[in-house]
Amino acid sequence: MTVELPATQRALIFDTFNGPLEVRNVPVPEPAEDEILVKIEYSGICHSDLHVWLGDLASMSVCPLVGGHEGAGTVIRVGKNVTGWQLGDKAGVKLMNFNCLNCEYCKKGHEPLCHHIQNYGFDRSGTFQEYLTIRGVDAAKIDKRTDLASAAPILCAGVTVYKALKESNVAPGQIIVLTGAGGGLGSLAIQYACAMGMRVVAMDHGSKEEHCKKLGAEWFVDAFNTKDIIKHITNLTDGGPHGVINFAVAKIAMEQAVQYVRKRGTVVFVGLPKDSKVTFDTTPFIFNAITLKGSIVGSRLDVDEAMEFVTRGIVKVPIELVRLEDVPDVYQRMLDGKITSRAVVDFSL
Ligand SMILES: [Zn+2]
Ligand SMILES: [Zn+2]
Repeated sequence: MTVELPATQRALIFDTFNGPLEVRNVPVPEPAEDEILVKIEYSGICHSDLHVWLGDLASMSVCPLVGGHEGAGTVIRVGKNVTGWQLGDKAGVKLMNFNCLNCEYCKKGHEPLCHHIQNYGFDRSGTFQEYLTIRGVDAAKIDKRTDLASAAPILCAGVTVYKALKESNVAPGQIIVLTGAGGGLGSLAIQYACAMGMRVVAMDHGSKEEHCKKLGAEWFVDAFNTKDIIKHITNLTDGGPHGVINFAVAKIAMEQAVQYVRKRGTVVFVGLPKDSKVTFDTTPFIFNAITLKGSIVGSRLDVDEAMEFVTRGIVKVPIELVRLEDVPDVYQRMLDGKITSRAVVDFSL
């Protein structure tokens, strides 16, 4: 079943950082021998896409650029050296690709740390276009039963939170604090954490309490109106949570986490505040034998595992479908703090 290919396709492009975002017609690429061509049907819009466009990540990105790194669609061409893919398969296009598969990090499964990584939507064209090539080894398999629109955000947001939860080393029955729990990443993290058997303390603005509890949080802590957060969480969790994942883009939340985490507990930093410097007293940190980690997306296996929760219907992704032309408006709403679910471009609209 070979699908006819048009000569050109629609792509959302910007020529300069913070410059106009325009939908233009560009050539449809041919896959190389080790690549597949994916007809992108949905693409999630990540906060990083906004920051790339604004130029906040200029050292990691190029212009002109097609953004986007959460693509889901159908395989319509398969390069002759590709194994494991067939026409009609559903495929996901994630952020980090072109890892060498041969260095120390790749061999240990820490693929996002490979020196050869290229990032779709950062330093090469991403998923805000209708057709995209990707190496067969990099693309994520998506089960045919999986809702493709829900699958798209798993390729960055979903795998990011799932990997961070694994990195927290919190066991089933133990307690995890999620800061920024009511946001896009946090809302997914509550569901994954519950599915993994963790007991969740959600922390965010008071207006998010009902939302977080509906998703499965056992406790809620108002990050802005709690008198002594460290004492409060320590009491609430009878000695501190076993792990903390910081999604909040606030340095105070990062500094507090190191202080209230349980002895021998783990704090994982995911949220990136603009001025990313934090300070804390190292004495209790050392005497309580705390582990502090950073976590960035995940491996191909982490993507597969994160996707399976969605396929099985255990994790639900709150999405809002928009047109490719609506991406600039979504960026504005992100800047205004008015995005409540993951905006996903539906290329059929
Ligand atoms: Zn992202
Ligand atoms: Zn490598």
